[in-house]
Amino acid sequence: MNKFTKENMPKTEEEWKKVLTPEQYEVLRGKGTERAFTGIYDKETSPGIYHCAACGAELFDSKAKYDSGCGWPAFFAAAAGDRVKFHDDTSHGMSRIEVTCANCGSHLGHIFDDGPAEHGGKRFCINSVSLDLEKK
Ligand code: FE
Repeated sequence: MNKFTKENMPKTEEEWKKVLTPEQYEVLRGKGTERAFTGIYDKETSPGIYHCAACGAELFDSKAKYDSGCGWPAFFAAAAGDRVKFHDDTSHGMSRIEVTCANCGSHLGHIFDDGPAEHGGKRFCINSVSLDLEKK
């Protein structure tokens, strides 16, 4: 697992390309989206912590993961409020809110308002390729 602090974080896209796989680079740095139902964590139910696949920051606890049926890993909350950042995203003719890693700025996915009501109603729709599960 990549573990970068502010000090040794890749600074350029060329540096990111060297430490990420092509699939990771396309999503994390290129804001791509993996095809639905193809990600390795879509149906994952093991307990653990999901880290940012780019920098290693702890992003989501498996306790907040649920099966939304949408084809990507879904969480109703981040591991802590300051672990992710939100950005208005009007690309592809849609109005969405992008979710990025607060530590390295890499693209993770989007957040929607159709999550489980008993947990606050949010759905973090996150690409598997943006995540690295550390199983407990
Ligand atoms: Fe990160």
